Amino acid sequence: MTHDPQTALLSAALAAAARGWPVFPLRPGTKRPALHGETACPRTGPCSDGHRKWEQRATTDPDRIRAAWSRAPFNVGIATGPSGLLVVDLDVPKDNSSGDAPGGATTFRALCERTGQAVPHTRTVRTASGGQHLYFTAPAAVRLPNTAGTLAPRVDTRAWGGYVVAAGSLVDGSRYETVGPALLRPLPGWLKTLLVPPHPINRPPVAAPASGRRRPYVDAALARETAAVTTAREGRRNATLLRAGRALGRFVASGDLTRTEVENALQGAGEAAGLTVAECRATIRSALNWSITHNAARRGVAA
Ligand SMILES: [Zn+2]
Repeated sequence: MTHDPQTALLSAALAAAARGWPVFPLRPGTKRPALHGETACPRTGPCSDGHRKWEQRATTDPDRIRAAWSRAPFNVGIATGPSGLLVVDLDVPKDNSSGDAPGGATTFRALCERTGQAVPHTRTVRTASGGQHLYFTAPAAVRLPNTAGTLAPRVDTRAWGGYVVAAGSLVDGSRYETVGPALLRPLPGWLKTLLVPPHPINRPPVAAPASGRRRPYVDAALARETAAVTTAREGRRNATLLRAGRALGRFVASGDLTRTEVENALQGAGEAAGLTVAECRATIRSALNWSITHNAARRGVAA
């Protein structure tokens, strides 16, 4: 163990690369990439044939890593997609003065309990802010995107298009550190199911309403939740969509609404609010899967 910060960070970068995880430099003391963005691209060097972002420039080459980290005490970014990693990011509430907002570790544990799954035991890194990163090997057959709040509140995932700050990095004076001896495990199948974006050709055909005997409060709930999503302010859109999906999922479990009706209504509302098609699909799918399972179990339907 060295006390020279720059050498320690170089070691952290080489250690990640030795695992086969491509790394790139982050600005010293921060989580932000040190590489230039597209608008500042000089179109020279690695970008002479067009801009290459950090995901493309991340490397496992020890010589390139030594050259880069000889310049400054860069933090270490791991490009999760090309690393074949899926990292579950359990965040801590930023403003928690009241102390009652549950963190990602709590909401993730609750998700595991609701779905009857064990809390996965895998390589874990404690973040500078006191959150946790759970590292999994990503399934090879599917290209998982990043998600934000899809699994549970304050639970994000990093895969293709994302990166994580590696163990050994220093942010705001706190070091990212591995916690415990757990080994890297494959992503559990039930988590994969919640994270795979639905393929357009696999979408079910639009079905007719379940029956003509719909109750007024069901229509009222559908209208209310759809309106809440459409008018959600930026930063709350995904969470509102998730909550709406969970609220309406119980009417799917009870047979008052079809899944397709709810999916179509919420997809339209989410896109109207400014979320991407893929974000809406992923969130609605996750919310309905949880809610239908949860409500069916509570009603004893499974028995
Ligand atoms: Zn460039």
